[in-house]
Amino acid sequence: MSLPDVVAHLRALEQEAGRESGSAQLVAVTKGQTLDSIERCVLAHGTFPLGEGRAQELRDKAAERPDWEWHYIGPLQRNKIKYLRPVTLVHAIEAAWQAQAIAEAAGKWGHAPDLLLQLHNGEEQKHGVPTDELAQTLREVRETGLSVRGLMVMAPDFGADVAQAEAESRILRLFTDTARRAHDLGLSELSMGMSGDYPLAVRAGATLVRVGRSLFQ
Ligand SMILES: *Cc1c(COP(=O)(O)O)cnc(C)c1O
Repeated sequence: MSLPDVVAHLRALEQEAGRESGSAQLVAVTKGQTLDSIERCVLAHGTFPLGEGRAQELRDKAAERPDWEWHYIGPLQRNKIKYLRPVTLVHAIEAAWQAQAIAEAAGKWGHAPDLLLQLHNGEEQKHGVPTDELAQTLREVRETGLSVRGLMVMAPDFGADVAQAEAESRILRLFTDTARRAHDLGLSELSMGMSGDYPLAVRAGATLVRVGRSLFQ
């Protein structure tokens, strides 16, 4: 696959799901990729937000290309928040202190990114807000004054333990549940789906799909 194939596939999946064309946007995940290969495989085909998952790598790349649109999709440590200055959207807020630290830094930067809250996926995952803490965390994050636009979730990797059809049905259920929770909270953005599962995410209503590997093969 290449980027035009993925975008064409997204448009077809939107249509199949009865969704508006362009309602599932591609975030090109560029972690581990050089600026050259990002130019060749992504930006040669149009303008897309670029998702980075490691804070220092983001800082270094964005310093070279401040005119590109950067999203941060990785986990957030306190001492790395200073590197998020170039970012317009942070996908994986898991706790109010992270939003607080971003809000403080944003005061110095003179601009602030928007946020998504990462939902825990109910499996063996370290990251994400547990579903029963979501409403409270959302309230606390909003107290920082930053704008929370939606939810993000990562499907578990079931590996070989679970048959493919069963894994797909569990992932689709996770995405559908996440979409329902976002709707109930009045949140409109849904960052769901990676190379292996973005078709399920589009069916469930994803507005941002984070695809990496498929773009660079
Ligand atoms: C790496 C990564 C992706 C992209 O995964 P691919 O399998 O390369 O498409 C998406 N989301 C997050 C949070 C990632 O770290």
